[in-house]
Amino acid sequence: MARYSIGQATVSPDQPDFEQMLQSAYNSKLRPNCLCLGASGVPMYISQINGRFWLKRMPDTGRQHATGCASWEMPEEFSGRSDLYGSGFTYEENEVKLRLNFPLSRRGGQSPPPTAKANAEKPSVQADGKRLTLRSLLHYLWDEAGLTNWPGKNARRNWTFVNESLTIAADQKTVKQDNLQHYLFLPEAWTKEHREEIAGRRRERFARISGTDGKNGHQLLLVIAEVKDIEQAGMGFRTVFYHLPDCPFVMEQKLHERLLRHFGKEMRMWTGKQPGHMILTGTFSVSPEGTPMLEEVCLMFVSEEWIPYDNIYELAIIQKLVAEKRTFLRILRYNRPTAAPMPTFLLTDHGNDPVALYVLDAESSADVAQVEASASASSYAHWMWNPRTHGEILPIPAVLPRTDPATAVAPTRVSAPTTSAIPTRATLSGGFAQPVNQPIPAPQTTAQAETLASASAASIQSRFA
Ligand SMILES: [Zn+2]
Repeated sequence: MARYSIGQATVSPDQPDFEQMLQSAYNSKLRPNCLCLGASGVPMYISQINGRFWLKRMPDTGRQHATGCASWEMPEEFSGRSDLYGSGFTYEENEVKLRLNFPLSRRGGQSPPPTAKANAEKPSVQADGKRLTLRSLLHYLWDEAGLTNWPGKNARRNWTFVNESLTIAADQKTVKQDNLQHYLFLPEAWTKEHREEIAGRRRERFARISGTDGKNGHQLLLVIAEVKDIEQAGMGFRTVFYHLPDCPFVMEQKLHERLLRHFGKEMRMWTGKQPGHMILTGTFSVSPEGTPMLEEVCLMFVSEEWIPYDNIYELAIIQKLVAEKRTFLRILRYNRPTAAPMPTFLLTDHGNDPVALYVLDAESSADVAQVEASASASSYAHWMWNPRTHGEILPIPAVLPRTDPATAVAPTRVSAPTTSAIPTRATLSGGFAQPVNQPIPAPQTTAQAETLASASAASIQSRFA
């Protein structure tokens, strides 16, 4: 059980008054410490968002925590995230500055051709630097929201949870001079009872960016939502999202063609009704008559637990680990090409150090020897499954207890980079990770879900008012 020291007290997120204790510590300017590795503690900070209080790790301290601690951050050698540190995002004082390779505004009269951002299959070194693409921004937010970190027991997620987690993750992130939340549009959890208020808040937000292509140009918004339907209609395609039943987005014919070209895999998985959700992120403008028009889009398929996956082999591993109540991290590529060997998951409940899980799929162009060489170059233990030679999942390393926290030390090994794309920085990117107290308890009943959803949505929307 996670424990934190606040002044003389030792507290746990499981206790009912945890948030009240955070609030009084916040008011008394007391800094909490995470006790995952013993009494000395790792400093944390308290953040106030939407009138609520969250305990989060300090920037650049992710690796000081024990493997499996909610504030632990994976070694940088594993994630495509490390490639973007210093170029796609930088830490400054109390905020993270994001640099994007796509526009969030459009000059008056300009109407760029719609583009579906490809899976960022670009060389690792680009002339314009390594900025966040739509895909790597989505990966970054999924990581920061803690959605790639499966906590094992008692974990339940729904759109309300995902929405609030992403909202908290966007806090203290800036794009140019603006808070990312200024651009982010996450559909409120929809209920019939509150449909009028929800539509009202949305109309107000959309009306503020609705433009006539005059000399002031357009501001764009960034939607992240689950796709319900993409159907041919009129001059293009109508994109319907869950929780936005009364507000279809228009996708022009050319954009749809590019979507099929670049995201054929995701579209096939969705058409084939693979278990889970299809997430679309994209920039959009609002036409003078109020129609949201998608400009650039990216797709990502996630499991029922909202964990991203690329194929049925990765899904099989997710389903097995979830059923066995294991704790693990899903590793995302960000801008790294699919040919670069990378583990797919990290087991975080096998003793003190993580175990890298490699799933070799038909799509990966890296051959077995290449992946084996890369995995062996790391100082961390690894496990590999090649479904082409073993249809059945090989035995996964079992749960191992951690050694005594008083004597354990945080992993300090930094092995040789496994690809040339990995910078040689010795420290980890850190960051404002997800808070350790969970955003919203997963509701038990539909009625409770709707009450929570509307309460949460109201608090989130008030930030944009
Ligand atoms: Zn910790």
